[in-house]
Amino acid sequence: MDIKNGFVGAVGNTPLIRLDSFCEETGCEILGKAEFLNPGGSVKDRAALYMVEAAERQGLLKPGGTVVEGTAGNTGIGLAHICNAKGYRCLIIIPETQSQEKIDLLRTLGAEVRTVPAVPYKDPNNYVRLSGRVAAELDNAIWANQFDNLANRQAHYETTAAEIWAQTDGKLNAWVAATGTGGTYAGVALFLKEKNPAIKCVLADPMGSGLYSYAKTGKIQIEGSSITEGIGNSRVTANMEGVPIDDAIQVEDPEAIRVVYQLLHQDGLFMGGSVGINVGAAVALARQLGAGHTIVTILCDGGARYQSRLFNPAWLAEKGLAMPGA
Ligand code: PMP
Repeated sequence: MDIKNGFVGAVGNTPLIRLDSFCEETGCEILGKAEFLNPGGSVKDRAALYMVEAAERQGLLKPGGTVVEGTAGNTGIGLAHICNAKGYRCLIIIPETQSQEKIDLLRTLGAEVRTVPAVPYKDPNNYVRLSGRVAAELDNAIWANQFDNLANRQAHYETTAAEIWAQTDGKLNAWVAATGTGGTYAGVALFLKEKNPAIKCVLADPMGSGLYSYAKTGKIQIEGSSITEGIGNSRVTANMEGVPIDDAIQVEDPEAIRVVYQLLHQDGLFMGGSVGINVGAAVALARQLGAGHTIVTILCDGGARYQSRLFNPAWLAEKGLAMPGA
C-alpha cells in the first residue's frame, strides 16, 4: 500500500513529463517536473514545508504560532495549506499586482491577506521587507523569509533534485529554470553539479529581471517588463549565492505565451506563465545544444491561477500581446 499522510505527506514525488510537441520541435528530450501536481498546486509546497519544519526543529514555531510571509502567491498558498494541516495561523503580505485568483485562493484557505503597493526591494515598504517587520512585532510568530532562508533551496536539493536524478537515471545533459527566490534552481543545480559537473545549469529569466545580465556580466541591469508572475529578481538572494550558473537565457513574453498555448493545445497541459519562460528557455537551449540532448525544467504551477490574465484575450490585448490561435 502507498498511502501518504495528509497534506504534508503528499508534497513531492511528482512525475517527470516528456513534453512531446517540444521534443518533436527540437529533436531533444525536453522533460518537465510536474510541480503543479503538488497538493497545494505549485513548486512552492516543498519550500513552504521545509521552512516551517526547520522553524519547528529550531523551536522558533510553537503550537498556535503564526507564519508570516511576503509572497507573490504560491509560497503563501503552500504555507496556508501547511498552517491548516499543522494548526498555525498564516499571515500573507502580497503585492496588489498579483492575480486576483491567487489573492482569493489565499483568503479561501484561511490566510489573513494584506495587499500592498508593488514597490522595489530598496523601499522599506516593499512586501518582503514589510513582512519581516510584521513578523518581528507579533508574539510566537516566524518570518518564513523564503528569499534568504536556505531551508528553501534545501527542499529542492533533498527532494526535487534527487527525484529528477532518479527519474532520469542520471542521464540528463542540462537543467534550466527561472528563479523567483532561486530556491528551485539553486537546490537542483547544486545537487546535479555534485553528481555530474558536466550537466549544464542554465538560468532562465523573463524581461524586467536583472539576473540575465548578472549571469552574463556580473552586473544587475533591468530592461523591459513581463506579464509572468513569481519569477525574476532585482537582487541575488541568499538562496542563489554560490550557485553554479553556466549560462543564462532571456525569454520574451510573446515566446512564453506561444509556449504556454502550445502546451495547452498540443500537449494537453494547462500551465502558468513561468512555465512558458522555463520551457521557452529549454527550447532555446535545445537549439544551442543540438538534437539528442536531454533537458529538464520545471512545470511550476497550473493555468487556472492566471485565467483572468494569460488566458483572457482582452487582458492580453491590453498588454499588447496576441492570444495564439485566436
Ligand atoms: N514560478 C512560479 C509561478 C512561482 O510562484 C515561483 C516562486 N516564486 C517560481 C516559478 C520560482 O520558484 P523559486 O522561488 O524556487 O525560484
